[in-house]
Amino acid sequence: MKISTDYFKTTPDANGYFGAHGGSFLPPDLQQEMDRITDAYYSISKSHNFISELRQIRRHFQGRPTPVYYCKNLSERCGGRIYLKREDLNHSGAHKLNHCMGEGLLARYMGKKKLIAETGAGQHGVALATAAAYFGLECEIHMGQVDIEKQKPNVIRMQLLGAKVVPVHEGLKTLKEAVDSAFKAWMQDPVNSLYCIGSVVGPHPFPMLVREFQRVVGIEAREQFLEMTGELPDAVTAAVGGGSNAIGLFSGFVQDEDVELIGVEPGGRGNDTGDHAASLTFGQPGLLHGFKSYLLQNDQGEPAPVYSIASGLDYPGTGPEHCLLKDIGRAKYTVINDEECLDAFYTLSKVEGIIPALESAHAVAYAMKYAHANPRNAILANLSGRGDKDIDYVVEHYGLR
Ligand SMILES: *Cc1c(COP(=O)(O)O)cnc(C)c1O
Repeated sequence: MKISTDYFKTTPDANGYFGAHGGSFLPPDLQQEMDRITDAYYSISKSHNFISELRQIRRHFQGRPTPVYYCKNLSERCGGRIYLKREDLNHSGAHKLNHCMGEGLLARYMGKKKLIAETGAGQHGVALATAAAYFGLECEIHMGQVDIEKQKPNVIRMQLLGAKVVPVHEGLKTLKEAVDSAFKAWMQDPVNSLYCIGSVVGPHPFPMLVREFQRVVGIEAREQFLEMTGELPDAVTAAVGGGSNAIGLFSGFVQDEDVELIGVEPGGRGNDTGDHAASLTFGQPGLLHGFKSYLLQNDQGEPAPVYSIASGLDYPGTGPEHCLLKDIGRAKYTVINDEECLDAFYTLSKVEGIIPALESAHAVAYAMKYAHANPRNAILANLSGRGDKDIDYVVEHYGLR
């Protein structure tokens, strides 16, 4: 499948569409504010000052480039050759800081004083609070009361970083209500605050803007892989929740038609149980949070309840660019269930000395399967984050293996 050379300029189109997906579905007053962000992004992000400042931040604050690592022990065990892009070594332990630093810098150039977002498990909240501290901006993170009680360490991290955590008591008191609450807070003061989305989802321009800030992952990885091996990988793979770490890695290789792109969705307790969050594999076109994508929904077209052992992956929709890559056949999407994820979590820890985030362990699990089936090939997996946040939960529920 050949991808045009001006792919990144023409995707999304001027209205924020990736094929049939994406767009922006907001009430008029919100739409006006979104359009302001789009305009600001286009003019500011191309400026020499913005680009060079972001480059300095990547290097001196985030610790980029992160390495590509050849997993000798794991490869011997599985067959094939398995490589990891080590986003777990990015400052604060995951890829999310890549777009949060971009959003923070954009806010500063726009003269904003405050960053606002919602968070579910707290990972986006922590990354955004980190960016806000760096830029000297206020930070307000909306979080459902149920999630606050479940994710105490991340709540404390955000508070240490100087963010205000706003508890949300409406409805089920989880992510959906937190989104509504964050939107409302932003609308009360759109002039001084920037609403920051945590993945390649939401209304235009966020799927594009977050991709552009995550492209650094793929650009680095392609160069590093070529330098290490003299060739390109046969396949690259990443876990897909909203899809930001996957788009970051894929974008480095999307124009290399011989490199397979494989997104890994959370299969949860198994396809037949309904307890999963595999929107691209099982979803139908739908609309949620102001944009169109493949969506897991019930008979009435409402978003279905979703589940994954990795809380960063349980979202019923997905990034519109992934929907396009699936439709045109450029990327494939597959499913890894909780049990396979856990096996990769324990195995990578034991044989390579790297404890992966449960989200990232989905990509590692697929890489192990692929290596086993394709012993002559090389696969590069995005290790989107480190697993420190998950060890208590895993050991309490599944013990030491
Ligand atoms: C949030 C998160 C993800 C899922 O988000 P995407 O936007 O799909 O990348 C994956 N890995 C880690 C470590 C995360 O924190």
